[in-house]
This record gives sequence, structure tokens and C-alpha cells, in this order.
Amino acid sequence: MCRICGGVVNEFLDLGRQPLSDAFVEPDETADEFYYHLRVGVCESCSMVQQLAEVPRERMFHDSYPYVSSGSVRMREHFTRTAHDLLECESTGSDPFIVEIGSNDGTMLAAVRAAGVRHLGVEPCGGVADVARAAGVRVRSAFFEEAVGAEIAAQDGPANVVFAANTICHIPYLDSIFRGIDALLAPDGVFVFEDPYLGDVIEKNSFDQIYDEHFYVFSARSVQAMARRFGFELVDVRRLPVHGGEVRYTLARAGARTPSAAVAALVASEDARGLAELSTLHAFAAEVDRISRDLVGQLEKLRDSGLRVAGYGATAKSATVTNYAGIGPDLVPCVFDTTPAKQGRLMPGSHIPVRPAEEFAEYGADRLLLFAWNHAEEIIAKEKDFARGGGRWLLYVPEVRLL
Ligand SMILES: [Zn+2]
Repeated sequence: MCRICGGVVNEFLDLGRQPLSDAFVEPDETADEFYYHLRVGVCESCSMVQQLAEVPRERMFHDSYPYVSSGSVRMREHFTRTAHDLLECESTGSDPFIVEIGSNDGTMLAAVRAAGVRHLGVEPCGGVADVARAAGVRVRSAFFEEAVGAEIAAQDGPANVVFAANTICHIPYLDSIFRGIDALLAPDGVFVFEDPYLGDVIEKNSFDQIYDEHFYVFSARSVQAMARRFGFELVDVRRLPVHGGEVRYTLARAGARTPSAAVAALVASEDARGLAELSTLHAFAAEVDRISRDLVGQLEKLRDSGLRVAGYGATAKSATVTNYAGIGPDLVPCVFDTTPAKQGRLMPGSHIPVRPAEEFAEYGADRLLLFAWNHAEEIIAKEKDFARGGGRWLLYVPEVRLL
């Protein structure tokens, strides 16, 4: 049953037994790993693409959640630009107030604070919230939901902007989120969120965008229907090049603003390509299977030819591809990553050891499987000595290929 509208959900993709994508395990703790069956379907009524089973939120988002928004130069720049966009276009009135749901380490709100604008982050993960507080960002430690929205409105007054990046698609219980936003938002305020876009996932075969935390994969069509259901209206969309292709959705209260031409254009382009049709989604599932087999074939060839292989970027999304394709330390002996909280641990499910990025040069890899493909440009430029020394990058999005 659809988590948004109660309609019939048809499964189109079975990604098998999967661990929690950000649960990097200690070498002696592999026996206790949590697994669930990752299946994805689409709603017949509202077109929402969603997982069929829910992982309890406390298992995914807790005090040692390792992902940080500021981990990439490009993402830091993106969020600073985002803050300026919100301040220039949306924060009306003499004393605007901006709330971010899932404020992580405060990368976006730090720019709002620097502009002297009232702000509040709502963040359930203690570790990243403390990083934000150390930078002077106001953070409330909580999962955002109906009661939290009402409490913030009572304490700080209505918000002109409620923003969320890579957070709304994480939350199955969006009815409560919308009620909280309804309680918090000023009458002419906007709810702006950005998340991975179904159009990009299908076009790039980026099936690794689907993992425990990404419960929904949004499209303009499904967000439009969801907004209507909860008394809001989709009034603007903007495609973003970050995280492998996202869309920034702007919602206002129904009737409060005139939707931009971009909304109708994106919905029409989705309908024209049959984005939410089962035939399109089944074809995508077949591609997922083919690419996974290609990747394993390529890795087996590299291993058999005696080349030294490693992974680069122990991303959350790499859990999906390694566990679905069955890639373990026999094919990728280790993965290099800059996040201290992941180093010395094993990748979830696949148990590939994570090593500090500083040890990368000394390891002397011939081929690097780029799990963090969404940061390909930044990483390949940073590690230019690797290619200069004859090394080659192995990518699997949108196709398996050596660079
Ligand atoms: Zn539905």
C-alpha cells in the first residue's frame, strides 16, 4: 500500500538482502549486522516510487551517523549558493526565519547565520549536530514531525522558509512532516527541498541511489500529487547537478503562489518519456541486473590479470551495488575514504575494509573502482597523479567502463 496515498504499489525492482548503508562495522561485529529485503515499487494512483519495507528511523539516524554535508568542496559551494538563493528569493519581511530539517553539520545554515538571519536546524544525529553548534549554528536535536513543527512556531514564530536537502526522501511518514510544516510555515512561506531525481536515476541507471535511507525516489509528478494531498502546491522545480542529479522542489500553500512554467514543463517531460510507467521501470530493473553482471565480470578480469584493485569512496550508495552484485574483498580488497568514522571498519554487508585516504599512494593501485561517482570530477582532479602513473578509474554509472 502506498505510504502517501494508500494506493496499490507494484514492485519493479528487487535489490535483495541489504544491510544499513551507513552502518560501517568493526571487524569483530559482523555477526550482529542488521539486514532487510530492499524492494522498490511504484504507486498506481500517485506515481510515487517507494520502498516496500521500512527500516526503523533510529537504526539509520543516530549519534554516530557518519555522513557529513561538508565532505566535498563542491557540496560546500552548493549549500552556500543555496543559502544565498533562499535569502534573496524567499526570506521576505524584516526579520525572516529559516528552518532546516536534517541540518547535518550546519553547512547551509552557517551561511544563513553569517548573513545575520534567524535560523534553526532540526537534526536527530548528535555527532553532526554538535559540529554545527560548534560553528555557531542553532540546532534542535530531534526528528522533525508534527509536534516539533508546532513547538518551534510557538517559540520562534512562523518560518518564512523550511528547507531540507537529502532528507525528505529519507522519511516514510511524510503526512506527519507536512502537518508539522503546516504548523510552522508563515501563510506565504515556502517549503523547499532537494532530493535525488527519478529522471536521473532512470537515465543514468544509477540504481545505487536506492538504499535504506532513500525511502522515496521523487519525480515532479509524484511530488505534485503529494503536495496536493497535504494542502500544498508544487510551485517551482529546478534540476540540480549535485549527487548524481537532483531536483529542488518549492512548495507553497495551495493557491498562495502561481506555479512557474518549469513545473508544467518537467511534468510534461516525465509523462512524455513514461517515467512512472511499469514498462519503463521494468526496463530499468533489467539494466540494473545487466550492469551489475558487467561490473563483476570486469572485476574478475582485473583480478585474474593480477592487477591491484581498490575502491574509492566508501559511500552509502556503494552498499547497494556491492551487496546486490556480490562484490566482496576477493574482488575489491579495500576501499579508501577520507571520513575518519569509517576508517578501520568494514563496509556494510560486503565487509570490504575501509582504509584512510592517506594510505592510497602507498597501496599502489592499478585500477580504482569509483564508488563516489557523483563526485567524479572533483576526485579525479584531486588524484591526478594516479592516472599520470598509469592508473585507470573503473566506473559503473551509467555503464561499466574504464577511464
Ligand atoms: Zn500513492
